[in-house]
Amino acid sequence: RAKEMGNNNFQFYAREMNASVEEKLMLLEGLRGALDEGQFHLLYQPKVDLRSGLIFGVEALIRWEHPEHGVVSPLRFIALAEESGLIVAIGDWVLHTACRQNKAWQDAGLAPIIMSVNVSPRQFEEKRLVERVAAALRESALDPGALELEVTESLIMRDLAQSVGKMRELKAMGISLSIDDFGTGYSSLSSLKSFPISTLKIDKSFVRELADNTDDQAIAMAVISLGHKLNLRVIAEGVETEQQCTFLRDNDCDEMQGYLFSRPVPPAQIAALLEEQARMQSGCDQPGAAAY
Ligand code: C2E
Ligand code: MG
Ligand code: MG
Ligand code: MG
Repeated sequence: RAKEMGNNNFQFYAREMNASVEEKLMLLEGLRGALDEGQFHLLYQPKVDLRSGLIFGVEALIRWEHPEHGVVSPLRFIALAEESGLIVAIGDWVLHTACRQNKAWQDAGLAPIIMSVNVSPRQFEEKRLVERVAAALRESALDPGALELEVTESLIMRDLAQSVGKMRELKAMGISLSIDDFGTGYSSLSSLKSFPISTLKIDKSFVRELADNTDDQAIAMAVISLGHKLNLRVIAEGVETEQQCTFLRDNDCDEMQGYLFSRPVPPAQIAALLEEQARMQSGCDQPGAAAY
């Protein structure tokens, strides 16, 4: 067959393609039953206020424990879940689980924090998104002020008018919104001002070389100043080193999230971090806890 095609490279390429199509089919097959089989769980990564050093929120990050392949990264299956429409059911599960978890921490007497949940395009475009979010809040009895949704610029730009409409409805319910991976999408600066958001999240691709790449430094500083001029808070994701953290703090970034402070962890570890934080604060004259 290679001879027929007259090109060995092509045959090799085709085999590679087949492997990835096979892998996709295999994952998709597994994904269909994963919810019912209870194969998903959430990890939570702390978000820290750069001035006080305190945890004020967490981001829920989904993990899939595949029976044969072990833990599958969301980078591998979220896109598939999107394409197949499964994301709506999976996203619902994430919302309910994350809201319930945040309420459970509050009920355990921990300082209230904000739960951030990622919402992907198909999930956001789904007709009943606002009702679905309301249902998760109702079912968990979580205060809407303790929930934030992370959306991307590309998601909003798919249908600007409709997105802004939905965002306004969510905001009117008391939920906050943030733009995830900011700087990697296509939103124009003029549309940005019409988004009813409270936070810009600097994408980790600009944070990675922040210590010595002057272009990334310029981008980070520009996003921080843009955000502040629009009255938004600015958070940096993917902060792994002290140098990155120092740069961000020195340049007035508000919040950070990254391995430097903590990896995404199971709920009990968040509770332990919040308890430790409360212990360290008691006895000090610093009033209150998280900036919330
Ligand atoms: P994201 O929302 O931008 O989340 C940040 C990603 O960066 C997470 O990857 C997190 O584990 C990782 N991260 C955090 N700190 C560091 C760091 O210091 N260094 C590095 N190198 N990485 C760091 P993760 O958990 O693999 O998630 C990847 C993406 O999958 C997320 O990107 C988000 O777009 C999507 N995702 C995750 N969970 C959900 C979910 O429940 N629903 C939806 N729709 N998407 C999700
Ligand atoms: Mg996110
Ligand atoms: Mg992000
Ligand atoms: Mg990202």
